[in-house]
Amino acid sequence: MTLNCLVITDQRSGVLSASSLEAISEARRLVVKAGGGAVAIGLIGSGLSPVVEAVKGQGVQRIFLVDHADLKGFSASAYAQAAVRMVEKLPAPVAVLMPDTALGRELAPRLGARLGAATVTAVVEIVPSSLGGLDVKRKVFGGKATETVHTPSPVVMSLRPNSFAIESSSGGSPSVESVELGELPVHAKGLSVEKVISTRGDTPELTEAAIVVSGGRGLKAPENFVLVENLAKVLGAAVGSSRAVVDAGWRPASYQVGQTGKIIAPQLYIACGISGAIQHLVGITNSRCIVAINKDPAAPIFKIADYGLAGDALTILPALTRLVSQSKGLPDPR
Ligand SMILES: Cc1cc2nc3c(=O)[nH]c(=O)nc-3n(C[C@H](O)[C@H](O)[C@H](O)COP(=O)(O)OP(=O)(O)OC[C@H]3O[C@@H](n4cnc5c(N)ncnc54)[C@H](O)[C@@H]3O)c2cc1C
Repeated sequence: MTLNCLVITDQRSGVLSASSLEAISEARRLVVKAGGGAVAIGLIGSGLSPVVEAVKGQGVQRIFLVDHADLKGFSASAYAQAAVRMVEKLPAPVAVLMPDTALGRELAPRLGARLGAATVTAVVEIVPSSLGGLDVKRKVFGGKATETVHTPSPVVMSLRPNSFAIESSSGGSPSVESVELGELPVHAKGLSVEKVISTRGDTPELTEAAIVVSGGRGLKAPENFVLVENLAKVLGAAVGSSRAVVDAGWRPASYQVGQTGKIIAPQLYIACGISGAIQHLVGITNSRCIVAINKDPAAPIFKIADYGLAGDALTILPALTRLVSQSKGLPDPR
């Protein structure tokens, strides 16, 4: 079987997200596993020239470009239309891959519906099936079980961040092809993003970060949350929180990890003053390594932690931060 993959990327200010690089790497591997085919990167937006240059060395065969003033802000309808035009350029069978970020979660089902294609979200593994088509795996029941979805072609998949290895490529010289957007449907017109407000400054995106440090109600007061932020800073980590912290107004909802917050899968998760309620655990069970700091040795978080520190987070966090900054030769952030 041969397979043609289209990777719809997620970029901000001309920089490809890490999860987009994961999707590109997986598409390259998939084409090899399928026994041949081509990988195309789909760039959708406005003023994309810098991104085109950035993706040229990604070892793909084609770059499709829909660069249009109407695509300055994200609109799922308009993006789906652009992606449909790209899929039409590829010989069947086609698999469309995109990161399972806010963009991917909104775009994948809409694109799947427009293509009449199977759509699988939060994918963690893709293998060509002995029956033809693909076997696509995703975690269900809060990560307790893995569902395998057998999909005939075509298929649209959003890939869960931090689930696929990023492999550097040997370069290549892809063709760059402009694709016509065509007339947008009425409901896609007049929709625009007025303003993007960053709540995280230069810290990594929570769902993509390799390390996440989270704080819970055990930190006692909002002003103590800085201890979590200081450790995150020296580790180059993203900052998360339990829902109790969000409900108390200490941090915005974008920080919340768990069933009704963000589902994450970092290499290292450090939970500070978090009890380990099931709704929180649902968001972190796919972390590679979990470290818990809690003053109650019987706290449920210790049941799933790989390493536990039973003690007061208010004294352990500054000590850990000092140790990490010393080992990295960094100034102690205060
Ligand atoms: C429908 C529903 C959805 C939910 N969704 C989510 C979700 O997405 N994410 C989420 O997190 N929660 C969610 N919750 C809430 C969840 O049930 C818990 O209430 C919440 O996770 C508790 O947050 P916490 O661990 O910070 O606080 P607590 O449960 O109050 O735990 C605080 C912990 O800190 C420890 N501690 C106290 N002092 C210290 C100290 N000085 N040093 C170290 N440790 C200390 C305590 O021993 C305790 O274990 C949801 C609940 C419902 C009903």
